[in-house]
Amino acid sequence: MEIKTDLLVVGAGPGGTATAISALKKGGKVLIIDRKTHVGIPVHCGEAIGKTGPSIAEIEIPENAIVNPIRGFRIYSPNLTKVDYAKPEPDGYMIDRRIFDKELLAKACETGAEAFVGVNVTELLYKNDQISGIVGRRLGEKVEIEAKVVVGADGVNSTIAKLSGLRKSVKIKDIESCAQYEMVNVKIDDTDLLEFYLGKQVSPRGYVWVFPKSENRANIGLGIGGGMGEKTAFHYLQDFIKHNPRGKEICKNAKAIEFRVGALPMGGPNPKNVQDNLMLVGDAAGQVHPITGGGIGYAIVCGSIAGEVAVEAITEEDTSEEALSLYEERWQEKYAKEFEQMLKLQKLLTEAEDPLLDKLAQVLTGQNVIELTAGKKIGVFLKAAAKGDRQLLTLLNQLRHLQLVQ
Ligand SMILES: Cc1cc2nc3c(=O)[nH]c(=O)nc-3n(C[C@H](O)[C@H](O)[C@H](O)COP(=O)(O)OP(=O)(O)OC[C@H]3O[C@@H](n4cnc5c(N)ncnc54)[C@H](O)[C@@H]3O)c2cc1C
Repeated sequence: MEIKTDLLVVGAGPGGTATAISALKKGGKVLIIDRKTHVGIPVHCGEAIGKTGPSIAEIEIPENAIVNPIRGFRIYSPNLTKVDYAKPEPDGYMIDRRIFDKELLAKACETGAEAFVGVNVTELLYKNDQISGIVGRRLGEKVEIEAKVVVGADGVNSTIAKLSGLRKSVKIKDIESCAQYEMVNVKIDDTDLLEFYLGKQVSPRGYVWVFPKSENRANIGLGIGGGMGEKTAFHYLQDFIKHNPRGKEICKNAKAIEFRVGALPMGGPNPKNVQDNLMLVGDAAGQVHPITGGGIGYAIVCGSIAGEVAVEAITEEDTSEEALSLYEERWQEKYAKEFEQMLKLQKLLTEAEDPLLDKLAQVLTGQNVIELTAGKKIGVFLKAAAKGDRQLLTLLNQLRHLQLVQ
């Protein structure tokens, strides 16, 4: 089978569909393909999205994908000191990714995109040494698709990133290995708060999340830094549920109805995400928050930029790396500094021993956490100084160097 299009989007996750939708709004001719025959399944996601920050504001959230409105969060430090943040009104949502991804693909198609599901990309097509499309397989049949621009939105193990050489692989240390149960009969204190549990014993470089989907159902999962810790992500999760004082309490009668593993790129964006006739977005581009692991919002915002730039380039008949670099410039203007700071913060927090995290939890407010993780300066020095703890002040001084503390 041979097909021709202007813009080919590989991957129908949030990054791919956002790329397609924004390109269509600019009048582009778009084909979106995915190797899955049913996008959104299996779910490799905690399924939480925010209304603000790198957000879903760029697209309308499919209403039937919202399962629970969220007002804020509660962080538990290793000794279970709490840091709370809650807005009076919903500030985000728990979504059902099965529905979310599929509805966004439906929206792209309703807006004018063509879609082929079940196409697994295996090679890039070249004409005169230039990328000119992809080769894939659909139901055992070879498929060749020619395109003026190819967008690789094909996730953490992006084939397009590998084949193009833009990212041969994600370094082990930059991979976050995740394991998650969806459980029922969970004892949930506040159904509108996301819970996070920190600490080296709980989850080295990562955290345990308890994200409520209803009054007794939650996604309970964690991610651990590549090569870190003494156990697998699955064993850390089992330990939290069986041995952590809070985990034991909330999961006493809990039953797992789903178990998933997954991975995240936590080492920041790739140094380069464009080539002649090709761009990368979302997880394929490494556009994931290095501390929270949130990637849906970035994939959507960066994908929307990529879609616009692709159509502008196609219209101008210049799809060179130089023309497509406008995409890099636009998304970097929004997020490059934030990623850079968050990578440094990730390093500091990973190195911090559990007692230091407990001390930090005593001086931070929820608002501080929101600001810190958005790369904004917080003013907690006086409060910390009053405690007179040298280790804490050293950490805050390091944060000051990152321009995260006033
Ligand atoms: C356990 C876990 C929990 C997470 N929790 C959250 C959370 O709560 N909130 C949040 O914001 N983020 C979360 N994330 C991150 C978030 O899921 C990703 O950042 C987001 O899905 C990235 O979107 P994307 O479109 O770039 O890639 P994906 O959603 O991964 O989509 C990529 C698509 O490409 C397709 N594809 C892959 N290879 C090929 C190929 N060769 N040919 C054709 N198609 C291909 C795949 O089938 C897939 O549909 C979590 C991640 C994990 C692993």
